[in-house]
Amino acid sequence: MNRELLAQQVIDTCLEMNALGLNQGTSGNVSVRYQDGMLITPSGIPYHKLTPDMIVYVDDQGHAEAGKVPSSEWHFHLACLAARPELNAVIHTHAVHCTAVSILNRHIPAMHYMVAVTGIDHVPCVPYATFGSQALADGVSSGIRESKALLMQHHGMIAMEVNLEKALWLANEVEVLANLYLKVSAVQQEVPTLSAQEMQTVIGKFKTYGFKSD
Ligand code: 13P
Ligand code: ZN
Repeated sequence: MNRELLAQQVIDTCLEMNALGLNQGTSGNVSVRYQDGMLITPSGIPYHKLTPDMIVYVDDQGHAEAGKVPSSEWHFHLACLAARPELNAVIHTHAVHCTAVSILNRHIPAMHYMVAVTGIDHVPCVPYATFGSQALADGVSSGIRESKALLMQHHGMIAMEVNLEKALWLANEVEVLANLYLKVSAVQQEVPTLSAQEMQTVIGKFKTYGFKSD
């Protein structure tokens, strides 16, 4: 796909992310694989002010094109794209329910079969590190190798998929799961879970389920 179309898709994803209530203000960032690097949102600019020429190209060595400032989280976006060569889009948000669970420093257990959308039987929570740091990118990199979506302690969430549309779908799904987790754990401290065997069955079924195909 040509650069301008892909850049417009990045902007549309950001606008939809905020419209869905998955993010607030200039928090969050979005990237998509492009050439040997990625196209990523610029740092700190409200999404409704973005135009395709403002989306930043960063190469696989972390060099941004001249005159533009990429998202402060370019380290972990690049690390995600390197860690999962079969996936092409990364969405980071401060979705409220995901962030609440991340503050509790808990993973989301197999309390609903949809947890298997991550590709494993839980939504992991990676340890806190300062935003924009290589340390954060290192933690995210090992988390995303394990799971297509994760929580970031005291920060937010990341979802990664084959394209932007599916990454947004996944981000929304994980936010719904986080909301459910908080509701159930408010009533009963120990959240009931499905068995490891049942989760393996569901993970297997998701390999051919409709939304998985491109
Ligand atoms: P940017 O505006 O630099 O993308 O930062 C937002 C954010 O969520 C940092 O974690
Ligand atoms: Zn953030």
